[in-house]
Amino acid sequence: MTNHNTSPYSHLLLLAAVLALVSVASAFGPTSRLDLQKIMREERNYMQKKVIDISHKYVPDLPAYDSKSGLGNFIKLKTSIKLGDLYNFSVFKLTTHSGTHVDAPGHFNETLFELGYDVVSLHLQTLNGPVLVVDTPRNKNITAEVMRSLNIPRGVKRVLFRTSNTDRRLMYKKEFDSSYSAFTSDGAEYLAQNTDIKLVGVDYLSVAISPKDELLKVHQHLLNSKDIIPVEGLNLNDAVPGVYTIHCLPLRLVHGDGSPTRCILFQ
Ligand SMILES: [Zn+2]
Repeated sequence: MTNHNTSPYSHLLLLAAVLALVSVASAFGPTSRLDLQKIMREERNYMQKKVIDISHKYVPDLPAYDSKSGLGNFIKLKTSIKLGDLYNFSVFKLTTHSGTHVDAPGHFNETLFELGYDVVSLHLQTLNGPVLVVDTPRNKNITAEVMRSLNIPRGVKRVLFRTSNTDRRLMYKKEFDSSYSAFTSDGAEYLAQNTDIKLVGVDYLSVAISPKDELLKVHQHLLNSKDIIPVEGLNLNDAVPGVYTIHCLPLRLVHGDGSPTRCILFQ
């Protein structure tokens, strides 16, 4: 039996419900004209920007820290179409500090490592945003004196240091070269105490010069702060000094003391 016992307001309520449903459907349904305009505007913005890839390609001859033989054959097909398998499927093995990569606070500090300061703990806000690319004086390491001379203003949070390593094309030489240019302990201490820099990019495999005590101290000055992220092994060939937007996205490796990362600059 049909229930005819409806109130005079029931039609109005029904109409309101239908209108509510329609508005929900349009919010989640096909893209509105406004959304489309926004997308097209953003698309035009992005097309005008130049993208510079500042990551190195992973190739067998890419140098590895303290090694004569580079990365070697780090990738291998496990199944292969050529050999009759249905698909190509590879396995690769790299250290967490291979090629262009980031260091996590736990890299040189066991307490921080055990507290979970791995690459997952790194802030995406630090890894992405406005960045300054600077040329450092050639044939000098990044000392406190060099840092002072660069005169990087307070408020600058991300800096990529382009050194003689780029001119010398060290990242293209398979054999590790310990004569690379990088931070000395007083340079790192200066950065941590007198600047607002939280993302420190360098153009060879370590942010620190190679003598062991310096290697340790530089990393401690930067990493023990827990909010400074070194990005090492950057490809700065095409990044002339200036202001860009950087995007670095390391892998979310739980317990990773470092991770390979793709880094790009938008101009
Ligand atoms: Zn590293």
